[in-house]
Amino acid sequence: MRILVLSDIHSNLEALEACLESAPAHDMVVNLGDVVGYGASPNEVIERVRGLGEFFVRGNHDKAVCGITDLKDFNPVAGIAALWTREHLPAENLDWLRGLPQGPAALDGLEDVQFVHGSPMDEDEYVVSMHDAMQPLMTSSATLTFFGHTHLQGSFSGEPGGKSDVGYPEYKTVGQSETSEFPLKDGVRYLINPGSVGQPRDGNWRAAFALFDTDARIITFCRTPYNLKSAQERIMAAMDEFNRRHVVHTWSYKLDNDA
Ligand code: ZN
Repeated sequence: MRILVLSDIHSNLEALEACLESAPAHDMVVNLGDVVGYGASPNEVIERVRGLGEFFVRGNHDKAVCGITDLKDFNPVAGIAALWTREHLPAENLDWLRGLPQGPAALDGLEDVQFVHGSPMDEDEYVVSMHDAMQPLMTSSATLTFFGHTHLQGSFSGEPGGKSDVGYPEYKTVGQSETSEFPLKDGVRYLINPGSVGQPRDGNWRAAFALFDTDARIITFCRTPYNLKSAQERIMAAMDEFNRRHVVHTWSYKLDNDA
């Protein structure tokens, strides 16, 4: 089976469409959460991903937007984006976000593989370094974990009682659609991050995702260019509209109270 692994789309429809267009052939789609937040197309992205498959785990932005958690751990930009998103989602989409399952989760028939947003120890934890990866790598019941949250494409691996390694896929260009194959070895445990579709943070602007061939035991890391300018302009327009409205609200509130 060939599984397309998407994570951290963050309401970026342009990036999502580009990924789906360039994605290698696959049998199913798995989504590691943060479907919403930051980008300007939350409803379009929710509709699109719901049409792709049913296997999801929830991300911290999904939880904050639908009110499962508050915004106190969010930076100001993420907080405003979450409030903007909440205002623009109909009840049906807020309910759908509320119903997303907590990770880690597994697929039937693929019990040695798990999927989570942050870490298998804690769905909100960031696995950035080998130090962070060591405990989940060695104590999880699954030998292969797909995770997101950091927006950094790559792998952590370790052999019980042996050596450990951090890997980042290598690419030849900075602007083309490209793939980088990563064959899994027997007896080695892995944490694999497909990277972020909508907001990469690894110094590579292209949308990131991955494909997992469960029979060949090969991960294919993928990057694809998309219309970044259009996505950015729509975010700026949404932020302007939000600020204008909320500044006006504050101002009229003040007038009412001064009166
Ligand atoms: Zn995220």
